[in-house]
Amino acid sequence: MSIASATTPSAPLTSANAPLLFPVLSSAQISRIACHGLVRPITRGEVLIEGGQTNVPFFVVRDGEIEVIRPSGLGALLVAIVRANQFTGDISMILGRPAQMRLRVIESGEVVQLTRDQMHGLIQTDAEISEVLMRALIHRRMTMVAQGVGDALLIGSAQSAATLRIKAFLARNDHPFKYLDLDRDADVRDLLDRFRVEPGELPVLICRGEAVLKNPSNQEIAECLGFNGRIDRAHRRDVVIVGAGPAGLAAAVYAASEGLDALVLEASSPGGQAGSSSRIENYLGFSTGISGQELAGRAYAQAEKFGADVMIAKSAAELTCEREAHGVRLDDGATIPARTVIVATGARYRKPALSNLGQFEGVGVYYNATFMEEAQLDDGDEVIVVGGANSAGQAALFLARTGRRVHVLVRSSSLSESMSRYLLRRIEEASTIQVRTRTEIVALEGNGHLERVTWRDGTGAVSSHGIRHVFLMTGAEANAGWLNGHVALDAKGFIKTGPDLTPEDLAAAEWPLDRSPYLLETSRPGVFAVGDVRSGNIKRVASAVGEGSIAISFVHRVLAD
Ligand SMILES: Cc1cc2nc3c(=O)[nH]c(=O)nc-3n(C[C@H](O)[C@H](O)[C@H](O)COP(=O)(O)OP(=O)(O)OC[C@H]3O[C@@H](n4cnc5c(N)ncnc54)[C@H](O)[C@@H]3O)c2cc1C
Repeated sequence: MSIASATTPSAPLTSANAPLLFPVLSSAQISRIACHGLVRPITRGEVLIEGGQTNVPFFVVRDGEIEVIRPSGLGALLVAIVRANQFTGDISMILGRPAQMRLRVIESGEVVQLTRDQMHGLIQTDAEISEVLMRALIHRRMTMVAQGVGDALLIGSAQSAATLRIKAFLARNDHPFKYLDLDRDADVRDLLDRFRVEPGELPVLICRGEAVLKNPSNQEIAECLGFNGRIDRAHRRDVVIVGAGPAGLAAAVYAASEGLDALVLEASSPGGQAGSSSRIENYLGFSTGISGQELAGRAYAQAEKFGADVMIAKSAAELTCEREAHGVRLDDGATIPARTVIVATGARYRKPALSNLGQFEGVGVYYNATFMEEAQLDDGDEVIVVGGANSAGQAALFLARTGRRVHVLVRSSSLSESMSRYLLRRIEEASTIQVRTRTEIVALEGNGHLERVTWRDGTGAVSSHGIRHVFLMTGAEANAGWLNGHVALDAKGFIKTGPDLTPEDLAAAEWPLDRSPYLLETSRPGVFAVGDVRSGNIKRVASAVGEGSIAISFVHRVLAD
């Protein structure tokens, strides 16, 4: 089977919304860009960029034409043609990732060529050109993601939790990939033979048509696709930010835009909890709402645009603290030296005590309600949403919008104790949502996939229901365990900062300075905590973003001290 012919029309980027994806630059704009790089001839047949190449240059075509092709490993495919006064590239350039496509000259002419560093200099100094370039690069990537045109092919099964994990990891990192399902796509077996994979070894991720990864971890995927290749781990950073949720990304944007040398470590994918929200409607400036993934993708590109480095699928395992220097030890043993550290590791979902819960995670039990999870459901499937806070309310409304029956199970006697009024009102008005108070799940059953749920209601009555999908939106615990007692925590395990630190906390931590901790500073000088992981934080995107940005002003003070 030809993957190309089965999946995409020819030149999908050129045919899709051309003015947005391939804007035409004015001669004045091209002259300004030329000041940052060199002008050189190009010759028909010349390969300007090879698929998988690192340190990808940027080209503006003054004369001639360049074709963009997916390398042959995944089925050669013409993706776009870049013509005179247009430019090459997608957001990978900004993120410092390897090229996904091969660029070859099809008509001789002349280009302006910039290295990645020169391109960064350009977008940081020329606001007008930056806007044109960034908009096109982001939209090209969104089109590639939507059309599955990239350097990765995932073969798996909708019934497999590992397949869902890999899909979510690639999607939340905005990495375009083609997905083929063992149970639905007829010619999958031919492909498995071609790459010498047995059906029992699925899911399998094929990178650039070369590397075949069988049920890879997120770290293995990040490594194979070159997410972190360019990042220097050895030199001491002004600030190491742990966690790339809204708080960490905001800190990165403000740090890098204010000239600090910033590195972000992210255990999974940028966006954190917010990245899993199907629609955030109360974030300032987005009156019609924005998906968490889009918000995260924009913030990630913004942080990289200003020069922050973001390491994906790398967990902080320990904080090391000396008097004037800190370090963050990674899960692979390396330590990143830092003058200051911002802890933005957020919170994780609380799980009910059901012995076989793990067996159904991803195959009937979910912790997010986005289009990705919804794709697992058949039309008309009834679902359960567990929880009484805003995330549960949003999930219930999202899942009910197609007329599906949704049972909201909550342990308390009413939703109004914990949910915003606007959500509460919409839930009350939705005829297909049934709220069941003082009710909790007591058993899950199924063979492979969840098939049956038993709950106990307020009267003590136990009943069993043929429901195949449960969305657990039951609150969170702080991701502060990795700090291993290095900073003072509150009784619930969240990090205490600034005025919340008592004299006893500071004495126990042997606070060494004459001054008190700054706002958002922990019981360790130069170590800050922001967002959901911080004691007393209001668990909202806006407060996480606000705290991330405020912390940077105190980082400046510590560096100046
Ligand atoms: C489904 C859902 C819907 C929501 N909807 C809204 C809404 O509409 N409006 C609103 O205002 N708020 C909403 N929230 C709440 C909001 O998303 C959170 O308050 C916000 O994401 C907190 O941001 P944060 O950066 O502090 O933490 P998080 O978003 O939790 O991000 C923390 C990041 O740190 C990473 N991390 C954890 N440990 C480590 C480690 N050891 N090393 C490296 N990285 C690590 C995690 O992988 C994660 O990416 C929603 C939450 C959920 C779950």
